[in-house]
Parts: sequence; structure tokens; C-alpha cells
Amino acid sequence: LQTAIPAQILPKLVIPSETHSLLQSPQTTLLISISGGKDSDAMSYILLALREQYCWQCAVKLLHCDMGRMEWHSTPAYVEDFAHQVDLPLTVVRHEAGDLLAAIRQRMRERPDVPPFPSAKARYCTSTFKRQTTDRAIRQMTNTGGNVVVAMGLRAEESRSRAQKETWTSRDSVCAPTKGRWVWDWLPIHALTVADVWATIQANGNTFHEAYSHGNQRLSCALCVLGSLNDLLNGALHNPEIYLELCRIELESGYSFQTNRWLCSLRPELLSEKERQRFAELQNRPKQVKSLPQEASKPIQLKLF
Ligand code: SF4
Repeated sequence: LQTAIPAQILPKLVIPSETHSLLQSPQTTLLISISGGKDSDAMSYILLALREQYCWQCAVKLLHCDMGRMEWHSTPAYVEDFAHQVDLPLTVVRHEAGDLLAAIRQRMRERPDVPPFPSAKARYCTSTFKRQTTDRAIRQMTNTGGNVVVAMGLRAEESRSRAQKETWTSRDSVCAPTKGRWVWDWLPIHALTVADVWATIQANGNTFHEAYSHGNQRLSCALCVLGSLNDLLNGALHNPEIYLELCRIELESGYSFQTNRWLCSLRPELLSEKERQRFAELQNRPKQVKSLPQEASKPIQLKLF
């Protein structure tokens, strides 16, 4: 497949010098992490064009971490179609013990004293369902050693924490020197703007996930704990089963999905009369000011599954 990089984007790409020597080796696998979103789509086109340009001899594979029921209903088919389109093998990985919705329910059962939903501070969704599952896939594909470069489509413009990320780091969680396995994380499009990303997609056939046609700013889980109001409303409209399941967890746990936003307030017409009553009770309950003893206020590492 012939892919193209718009000329204005080339100088912004992050290509550390060691990348070339690693990717020129047939002992290396370039693992492109794709979510179905615009950033990883654009990154894939760019990396394929760079492979042609620099004659990289490494194996190139796509990896998708499937979040189960939390995904947009169309994401699994979209990532498969994308793999066909760019003619690359696709590995889909899932957490062996269940999906993110199952983990949220489990947290609710085991720790009713803390919010069951992930948050910016307790982002167990990405660490468990993306990081750990990717590490497992890397171990499986490099049983007998080898180099792996994991390319991810994170961009500095997206958030302050992403802006501070290093663009080339050793992925120590899965390196195994005794087995001859060396792994790096690479953020090749870290400096690209959202306009650069769309320009790359337009230069390569202008296909993208349906969520953007519905007005989404980002593609993530159908309803993301860090999502904007716009994307939550879209997610609820087009994925009502997931929306209702998350509303029920709000009502059962008494905690809102985001710190200051109840999903139940977005599309209350989808709730039953009984659920609306429960939501009204939760909203009317007096705010509790907890003064925790010193000991109890220490952060607690919560177990999943
Ligand atoms: S999209 Fe949002 S909810 Fe889903 S894994 Fe990422 S941060 Fe967590």
C-alpha cells in the first residue's frame, strides 16, 4: 500500500537516531498500537510511508487493545477493516479476566467506600486494559527474544500530562535481558497538531471512524471517564446499552461517572421511572464532608480481578 505524508508534517515527526538502526533489523518488530481513532490511523499511514522511504526491514504489526463492552459498537469492525486497508497483520488483545465494565462492577462490590469508576488520578483502565495486555502480547510474540518498538499515537497537544511524556523510552515492564528481549515506547507524532492529523488522513483516502462523523472530538471508550460533554452525549446517543449500564452503576454505587458529572443527567429519558427517582434521591442527599483519620487518608492500591 502506498501511503503519503503531507510535506508540512515531515519536520515535526519524532524519529530518534536509534530508531533507524533498530527498524532496519529483521530481528525487530514495529508494533503499531491502534485504537480506531484518528491519531493512531494517521500514525500508521506515516509509519508505512517512512518504512518505504528508509527501507526498514523490521516486521510491522498492528495491535488493538479491545476494551470489550466499553468500546463503540463499531470499533472492532473498524480496526479490522483498517488492518485490511493498510495490509498489515492485526493482533487484538483483551484482558483475560473480563472487560472494563466487569472491573468497574467488581470495584463497586469490593470497595463501596471509593468511586468504582477510573479517573485521571486512578486510571486503572489504561494501566490494566492497555498497558498490561500489550505487555502480555509482547511477551507472547517474543518468546525467544528480539527487539520490539511500540509506536503510540499520543500527542502533546492533547493534555498537559501527554505534553510531558518522553518520546522515546525503554519499556522496562517487559524488557528481559536474559531472554534477549528489548522493548521501547515511541511517540512518533507527539508534535503533530490535530490539523496535521486530519491532513494526513485526508492524504490517505479520508476514511475514519464513524464517531467523528457524529461530531466526536476524540475516539475512546464509548463513554470515557476523561471525555468531554460533547463526546459523552454522542457516546450515550449511539451506544445506549453501555450508557444505561454505567448509569446503573452510578445509581447502585452512589458515585458519579466523572467527578462533577452524572451520566444519569445526560439522557434521563432513557432511565426507568424508578431509576429517575433514585437519581433524584442521590442529587438531593446532603453533601458529606468526610474528615478521615490520618491513617485512612493514605492512598490505597486497589486490586483488580
Ligand atoms: S478511553 Fe477513557 S475510560 Fe477508556 S481506557 Fe482510556 S481513559 Fe479509560
